[in-house]
Amino acid sequence: MSKTRSDWEQRFQSLTLEGRAFIDGQYCTAASGATFECLSPVDGRFLANVASTDAADANLAVQVARRAFESGVWSRQAPAERKRILIRFSELILEHQEELALLETLDMGKPIGDSMAIDIPATANAIRWNAEAIDKIYDEVAATPEDQLGLVTREPSGVVAAIVPWNFPLIMASWKFAPALAAGNSFILKPSEKSPLTAIRIAQLALDAGIPQGVFNVLPGYGHTVGKALALHMDVDVLAFTGSTAVGKQLLVYAGESNLKRVWLEAGGKSPNVVFADAPDLREAAEAAAAAIAFNQGEVCTAGSRLLVQRSVHEQFIPLLVEALKAWKPGHALDPETRVGAVVDQRQLDNVLRYIEIGKEQGGQLLAGGARTLESTGGLYVEPTIFDGVTNAMAIAREEIFGPVLAVISFDTEEQALQIANDSIFGLAAGVWTSNLSRAHRFARGLRAGSVWVNQYDGGDMTAPFGGFKQSGNGRDKSLHAFDKYTELKATWIKL
Ligand code: NAD
Repeated sequence: MSKTRSDWEQRFQSLTLEGRAFIDGQYCTAASGATFECLSPVDGRFLANVASTDAADANLAVQVARRAFESGVWSRQAPAERKRILIRFSELILEHQEELALLETLDMGKPIGDSMAIDIPATANAIRWNAEAIDKIYDEVAATPEDQLGLVTREPSGVVAAIVPWNFPLIMASWKFAPALAAGNSFILKPSEKSPLTAIRIAQLALDAGIPQGVFNVLPGYGHTVGKALALHMDVDVLAFTGSTAVGKQLLVYAGESNLKRVWLEAGGKSPNVVFADAPDLREAAEAAAAAIAFNQGEVCTAGSRLLVQRSVHEQFIPLLVEALKAWKPGHALDPETRVGAVVDQRQLDNVLRYIEIGKEQGGQLLAGGARTLESTGGLYVEPTIFDGVTNAMAIAREEIFGPVLAVISFDTEEQALQIANDSIFGLAAGVWTSNLSRAHRFARGLRAGSVWVNQYDGGDMTAPFGGFKQSGNGRDKSLHAFDKYTELKATWIKL
């Protein structure tokens, strides 16, 4: 039987909250002794004082990670042995599912049901998937003349630093550390200052699983301090980032100003979800469109935040959409029935409310939501919101809000729909709903986006790559392609 809210509250009483950094196999305070307060957006409760690390801690972590890498204790370990240890790590995460889910929910506000059903299992799965892959990937022998042997081998890159966001704190981190560790790298994780607790907790689980000390390190702290220090560091080989496009651009500058470290960016989105009149089932499309903007409080990089509806079914579709969104009511994030939790912090809440005002000012018609709610909880909740009558020129159609605010745009023809869909600086994902097979393929081909969903929204698992076109980033998380980010290719020519 699933736990009630009071069961979770009781569980919270027995939690020990760790806020220190994890370097060289142990928890430690920041060298400066600085900390910051971690408060829960769920109801404002104090969670922990968290180490606010900076350049001094980054230097130490990089030194430790480099030493571990050079020693070969992990980097030259047999892939099958790394696999065994990582699978144990994955199992330990599942053994601590409730604790980690509770931390994730309290730290960043998502519904406890989602943390339990999605975030923690998906993290464990990402680790297991990459672990299982690593002893099944073969290197290459080049097609050389008789007197040559050309070996094309992959080597771990060295010290990988990852800077990740707060919307799926553990999942986003695992998409990076799982392939990077499986490939033999040493790793430094910089979680978002808004959601550091689960990253800090799993560092101990990594060590318990058998990942040698110094190989997996966690540096909580701010972007402009420890994040910047890692990005500018002369001895970090790879910087893997998920976050906003603006910060991603800055990281490329830092890499250019330092050691030309490889920078991989999973950045923002403003994804179009396109409903043609011949969609197989308009009600299903409406339900998916509601989920695409309300799930995880709209704090999803692939949120279907621009909903393009063919004008001939607009009148029929809108009531279905408004009805479907009613299933996405905000509630206390520790209530197992809740589908929409709290927004991560006051700043983000203010940002969402500001865009709602801009939407109104620029002529959008507010059809649902539009206000803060559940203030009496002490938490940060906002109603999922729909604007109709939006044009693609309006700010709510161009800028990433990263909250549950949907912009509905009407179109007449397929050409017009494609033009609007692609008229964005972003290119992360897109959806298309049609029963016409040729149109589905034609439209999917025309979309400039890293993930395309036909007659569904947000499908996928570890087997396919994930990432963006245009200013949504470069490189891909997930699938075997993720190993490209954490390995260098070497050509060795042997004269026979
Ligand atoms: P953000 O860019 O503000 O922060 C992301 C991380 O970068 C945080 O850890 C932050 O501390 C760090 N950072 C900030 N400034 C820095 C600097 N100057 N130097 C180094 N590090 C710095 O993003 P956010 O608000 O945490 O997350 C929301 C964004 O993440 C949205 O744009 C969303 O689309 C994007 N996102 C993308 C994906 C994807 O896979 N493409 C997935 C999830 C989220």
